[in-house]
Order: sequence, then structure tokens, then C-alpha cells
Amino acid sequence: MTWTGTQTPVLVGVAPGTCDLTTLSDQAEAVATSQGYHPSSYDALIINVPDLHCPGLGYGEIGGRHTWLQDGLWNLADGYARAVTAHEIGHSLGLYHSHGLECAAFTITPACVANAASHNEEYGDAWDVMGNNWAGDGNNAVTWFSAKQELNLGWLTGTHVAAVTASGTYALAPLEQARATIPQVLVLRTPTRSYYVEYRQPIGQDAYLVNFPAATSSVHISVDDPNSPDTGPYALDFTPDSASGYGDWFDAPLADGRSFTDPENTFTVTPGRNGAVAVVLRQTSTAGRSAGTAAPGRFHPLTPARVLDTRTTASPVSTGSDRQVAVTGVGGVPSSGVSAVVLNATVPSPAASGYLQVYPSGSRPTNPTSNLDWAPGTYRGERGDRRCRGGRQRRPAGRRGNGPRGARRRRLVRQRSRHRRRAVPAADPGPGPGHAHPGQRRTRYLRR
Ligand SMILES: [Zn+2]
Repeated sequence: MTWTGTQTPVLVGVAPGTCDLTTLSDQAEAVATSQGYHPSSYDALIINVPDLHCPGLGYGEIGGRHTWLQDGLWNLADGYARAVTAHEIGHSLGLYHSHGLECAAFTITPACVANAASHNEEYGDAWDVMGNNWAGDGNNAVTWFSAKQELNLGWLTGTHVAAVTASGTYALAPLEQARATIPQVLVLRTPTRSYYVEYRQPIGQDAYLVNFPAATSSVHISVDDPNSPDTGPYALDFTPDSASGYGDWFDAPLADGRSFTDPENTFTVTPGRNGAVAVVLRQTSTAGRSAGTAAPGRFHPLTPARVLDTRTTASPVSTGSDRQVAVTGVGGVPSSGVSAVVLNATVPSPAASGYLQVYPSGSRPTNPTSNLDWAPGTYRGERGDRRCRGGRQRRPAGRRGNGPRGARRRRLVRQRSRHRRRAVPAADPGPGPGHAHPGQRRTRYLRR
């Protein structure tokens, strides 16, 4: 896509002095017209002013003609300055934001995705200029549009899109590099929604991804919300709760060798290396499951996968508290149709004595018993068959770190504060870390 246009010199008019975007653009167009320009003959207008007097630094109309920037493009060498403008142009082209599906400690659950709008990290996708672009901000880069947004734009069509209807191993071309016969996105349809699988490499505009190996030795998966007019994708986070805020999304992609099964148990996706993606389809229609569904009552071997490491998680387990740990939909375990899993619980080199009790979610034993006891300096491991009900395990623990309950509560409060529906025009976030320039505000959540 090529844009051509006209840049006016600085035009001086009567600005409203308050956050009134319509008046501001009306005044700007009037001044431009008085100087011999014809604003109505342009498909898009970018109005750049020293101060919008609004909470956000940029506003755009979704599918509309106007973009408002505060001190935009102040430095073309600065990724953030370019990203804001590119982002607003994305709105002009009809794009909504690239979200993150925020399901707390889970990548995705049936209830969470069924009400995605209430579990929406509005700008969650770190790898999309329509998301938070923060990975690019620190590298003076404007991130690529994600595959779903390119589908929305009509930029990915024909052989560049593969609608998966059969199990097999699919080759994905890097999203940044169109190839004649290899698709750049896999679309997996379940009975209720669609998932989009893409593969990123440090190519062209995404060259900065060389600094983010988790983004390139993996696939990025998003899901849509078919019940909303908001066509923005919801990125899935395959290491949920690994950090707070947007930092949680830097390690979101599904690493090569890990597997993801959708909550409807329609498919399992396992990225290999270099864009090879193994897909197993279990369900070809809403009518029933095809052959290949695991027979009931049997254990199926899996490559061991770590589902929780309290040494690295953002919110360790504290004394007397408990922690729900998802064991379905992770590590190759299907998201549904599972009645039991085998777990190992390990305590390496504890500094103090303690104990761990593991039980299925919702069935806390009335008589306290421990599954694992340890003393300082020992290394204890325990293996057990843990029935899982409702797809979760509850894991209370002894003397370890800080409390997860508080952490989860804080997270929910923060989510609620973001649940407000964004009206058009859409505002955009302030500068990312380290990218304020003199006179520019650094507040992170400037948005409406
Ligand atoms: Zn926006």
C-alpha cells in the first residue's frame, strides 16, 4: 500500500483550547481551505497540534478520515513517534486495537473467551502496532500488523491464507515475507470462533525482533470475538502471569515444541522449528468428534512440561495461601475431555521446612494432609495422579514467597478499570518506557 499526500506548512488557527477534537479538526480544515487547500478532496487528514488538551497523544476515527496527533512525528528516527501515526492510520483504515486475552493465570478458558470483552487487555498485543508496540518502542521500531489485522485489511488473501481443514504439518512463511505458495497465516475454525496462527522473523520492519528470541522461535496465536463489532484480535499468552502489565505479553507466543489445544477441543497446534506447524484436528463439525479423540479411561504419554515454577513466576505462593494451576490446555494436555493428569511437584533446596498439599479445584480436603514435606537443604519431588475437575488444580503451599491472592485481586481490579468500552475516536497510549521526549507526558494509560 502506498500513501501519497500533501504536507501543509504550519497553519495558525483558533484552537478550542479544550479536548474537543471535532471543533479542532473543523478549525484546521477551515484554515487550510482559506490558504488554498482542499481538505475534502483527501481520503485522510492528519491534524498535528502542539497540544490536544486531551488525555491521549493520538486519536483516530475507526474507518474515518481524521487523525489527531499531539506533537506527532517530532522525530522520525524515534519508533514511538512513527508508531503513533502508523497506529492512527490503522484506525483510519478501519482497524480496531490488537488486544490481549487476559485470563489471569490461564492462557484461555471457556468462560474467559466467551466473554472476551470483559477479559480484554485493550492494547495487549506487544507485537502489533495496533497493540501496545512496546517491544518496538525500545528499539525505535514500528511493529508489523498482526495476521488478523492484515486479514481485516484484505492484505492477506489467496495462497497467503490457509484455512486448516485437515490434520497435518503446515509450513508457515514469515508474516513479514510473502512467498508464492506458502501461507503466512493458518486459520483454525472451531464451532464458535476462529484462531489465527502466524510466525514472525526479524525481517524488514520487524528486524528488531532479533532482540526477542521468544517472538521468533514460536508461533503467535490470536482469537477473534465473533460476537463483537470490534474486529481486533485477542492475542493469547502462553506464559500467563509471568510479569505484570504489558511485560506479561513479551513472552506470550507459543514456543516451538509446546502445544496448544483450544477450549472446545477442536485442534491441537504444535509449532516445530522454522515455521513448521503440526495441527491435529479432532472435531470437524459441531455434530461430533472424529476418530482420533482419545479413548476414555486411558492415560496418554506426553513430553513433560512445566506448568508452574514459583521461582520465576511474578507472584510466588506464600505461607497458608493457595494457587490454582491450570493443567488442561497446557503442556499438550487437551483443554477438555480430560479426567486426570499426572503431576510432579518438586521443591529444590528449600531454605526452610514446609509442606505442600495438592488437590483438585473445588475439593479441598477437610482433614489437612500434605503431598510433599521438606526440610532445609533437601530436594524433594513427588509424583502423583491428580484428578482434575473443572479443568483446574488448586495448589496450596507452605512457606514460599509472596501471596498470590493479593496479586490476583490486584490484577482483576486493574482489568475492571480497563473494561470501559472505547468509543470512537480512539485514543492511544502515552510513550513507552524510556521514550518520553522533553515536554511530553509519560503517563502510560492515557486512553479513552
Ligand atoms: Zn488506537
